[in-house]
Amino acid sequence: MEDKNMLMIPGPTPVPEKVLLAMAKHPIGHRSGDFSKVIAELTENLKWLHQTHNDVLMLTVSGTGAMEAGIINFLSPGDRVLVGNNGKFGDRWAKISRAFGLQVEEITAEWGKALNPQAFGEKLAADTQKQIKAVIITHSETSTGVLNDLETINQYVKNHGKSLIIVDAVTSLGATNVPIDAWGLDVVASGSQKGYMIPPGLGFVSVSQKAWKAYETAKLPKFYLDLKKYKKATDENSSPFTPPVNLMYGLQASLQMMRSEGLDNIFARHRRLTQATRAAIKALGLPLFASDEAASNAITAVAPIGVEAEKIRSVMKKRYDIALAGGQDHLKGKIFRIGHLGFVSDRDILAAIASLEATLIELGYESFSPGAGVAAAASAFANV
Ligand SMILES: *Cc1c(COP(=O)(O)O)cnc(C)c1O
Repeated sequence: MEDKNMLMIPGPTPVPEKVLLAMAKHPIGHRSGDFSKVIAELTENLKWLHQTHNDVLMLTVSGTGAMEAGIINFLSPGDRVLVGNNGKFGDRWAKISRAFGLQVEEITAEWGKALNPQAFGEKLAADTQKQIKAVIITHSETSTGVLNDLETINQYVKNHGKSLIIVDAVTSLGATNVPIDAWGLDVVASGSQKGYMIPPGLGFVSVSQKAWKAYETAKLPKFYLDLKKYKKATDENSSPFTPPVNLMYGLQASLQMMRSEGLDNIFARHRRLTQATRAAIKALGLPLFASDEAASNAITAVAPIGVEAEKIRSVMKKRYDIALAGGQDHLKGKIFRIGHLGFVSDRDILAAIASLEATLIELGYESFSPGAGVAAAASAFANV
């Protein structure tokens, strides 16, 4: 049905009407006093969302641009870095790092499993010469629905003392607790079309004092993504280049919505959505791709047996106007992924699970009793 699309992919995520309407305005000059006020408010609210007093900078890029900025501002060619790779986005960190001539050592885990924090601990403890300049990881690995144990890995980085911790928090920020100051995270990258509830086009990077120190000696080339330019401008409630003015009106509205919901409530809601989705999938007899202990709050990956993942996606889209994500790289056709990140409520999960049941029935999958998924989700909602 026209205009009835429901996004249950891990970005772009659904956008609230309040945000859409906030963007439906004539742009104003980005050097005007009125726009300075917008930037001042955004900066304050971004720091609130990031739980930090560090700089949080806005860039006109997708999430990958924020990741690239996180590399090129703080490192030099030949620097030794440890990269966690257990999925598409960890792999992207390794690719970016190699593209800029870093000496990359990967710590890997099978896709669908979490990174082993001890593997980082051992490498860091063995580095008595303090040559490891950064540990680079993806917190919520969107390609598999796995949440890596950032807190423990970061503990090892802190014991090392010299290394920076650089984090892709693209699908954890705004869904999962990422206390930047409490944990001492140096560089944290995120993007607008995920937990922020606004369309794609803005990237965010938070930068610690320790990272700014590293900036002073970092030799990788940079111009548009030179974060000092953004810091200087942000300190004056301005921006170094023309920013996406209307997207920032949207961000103003979405951050106001987030502040009124409250961080704890936002995290609790995402946890509830995750638990209900996982309970429902189990009740349908479909295997979950990530374990309960390592489940991301943003996305649930399912590896169906006895029914094809791509057929499920296709019927869900055609008949119920619900967009699910497929598998990436070697997981293409093997898994489907249900995004529950950002502007998603309990009702959306119930609708998605009911539609999934109807889809399974249409596809002739008979390993469940109809209604079992909805009942499991409903009871999870009643109990968490
Ligand atoms: C979406 C996403 C990104 C950024 O992808 P872009 O397409 O560049 O916005 C990076 N990391 C993770 C974990 C993501 O989910």
